Amino acid sequence: MQLDAPTLQRQYTTNDYLEAADRSLLFVTSRPPVVMASGRGMRLTDTEGKEYLDFVGGWAATCLGHSPEAVRKALAAQSPLLVNASPSFLNKPMVELADLLARVSGLERVFLASTGAEANEGAIKLARKYGALRLNGAYEIVTTLKGFHGRTLTTMSATGKEQWKSLFEPKTPGFVHVPWNDFEALEGAVGERTCAVMLEPIQGEGGVNVPAPGYLERVREFCTKRGILLIFDEIQTGIGRTGKLFCFQHAGVRPDILTLAKGLGGGFPISAMLAREEFNIFDAGDQGGTYCGQPLGAAVALSVLREVIDRDLSSAADSMGRFLVSGLGRLVSSCGVRDIRGMGLLVAFGLPAPLGDETVDACRNLGLLVNSPQPATLRLMPPLIVGKQEIDEAVQILERALLHVLKRV
Ligand SMILES: *Cc1c(COP(=O)(O)O)cnc(C)c1O
Repeated sequence: MQLDAPTLQRQYTTNDYLEAADRSLLFVTSRPPVVMASGRGMRLTDTEGKEYLDFVGGWAATCLGHSPEAVRKALAAQSPLLVNASPSFLNKPMVELADLLARVSGLERVFLASTGAEANEGAIKLARKYGALRLNGAYEIVTTLKGFHGRTLTTMSATGKEQWKSLFEPKTPGFVHVPWNDFEALEGAVGERTCAVMLEPIQGEGGVNVPAPGYLERVREFCTKRGILLIFDEIQTGIGRTGKLFCFQHAGVRPDILTLAKGLGGGFPISAMLAREEFNIFDAGDQGGTYCGQPLGAAVALSVLREVIDRDLSSAADSMGRFLVSGLGRLVSSCGVRDIRGMGLLVAFGLPAPLGDETVDACRNLGLLVNSPQPATLRLMPPLIVGKQEIDEAVQILERALLHVLKRV
């Protein structure tokens, strides 16, 4: 088909975008009728010029805010040098990123990929490889209900989301789900066929569920005793989000395998699967991909990670998280908000009624972006660079939106 110049150089209006989206994007989710055009720091701007204070933070990915200098500079410096060398060669950013990740995490071996789900697939394969080699072919992985591990078919199988149970059957077998934060249930589910336990140290999509003190420590001790692997999915909690560079540092336990994504790229698609030295057991060809260790992504992640460490944004997340939680405390009496929970800048709270979607819409109309992972839950995960003034502004908008939605005005 020949495309004429007007089609190729078409200037879209906001309505054109919305119509073309309706017509040409495969439906996977409902989206509000706005089109984002640019972003800087804590704010996004749509094609109508309306600004939004962003407390979704690219789904916890844009840890340095929108289009931060660290990402722009790394792209500008690396893209003229080398965009892709093929995964069969080493490249400079790949090795430097692996070296830094290994040093700061204490897990010696690093595999780089592009998305969180892909990192988790790698973790699951590594655990099964270990089961095949050292545990008499054990292949089962115990995961938690309400956990979230991604949207490939296997990571959907690992995910403990009730609504996904009957989707896309048959899924990958070999996952056993136990209630979250219930050590006895987990202990009871581990048997001869188990090769690993996989969980998020704080459940993110499940509604920001923080485990009771001692839970992660007991799970760690138990996995060591049984000789099975402990996998922590820190795709959401990692890279400073919870007030330490890695969430596992709060509990003082180290997993055998760790997965990272989201904040690692500051909005750029890159992920990592880290493993302790003794699990460096893949044979050539077991694992890989066209973009695994791709230099452009690795250069961005290296720059983002250095910035998070240099500016100690983990500590900033801790103190700003406390400030946010205390601000939200004001909404308990005015709006009936309850169960404010979280760590660092991964925060959620309960609404007095299942009005999450309505509240998200009302906030957006007032210029604030928030997320509702469950009908009666709101979640806030702003960039780690958020300041007190922006937190005050967000809490004020939240209060107005909630009062409006709850019809108390
Ligand atoms: C987002 C997320 C994933 C999936 O990451 P993608 O990059 O979307 O594939 C997996 N696990 C957790 C805990 C997440 O928050």
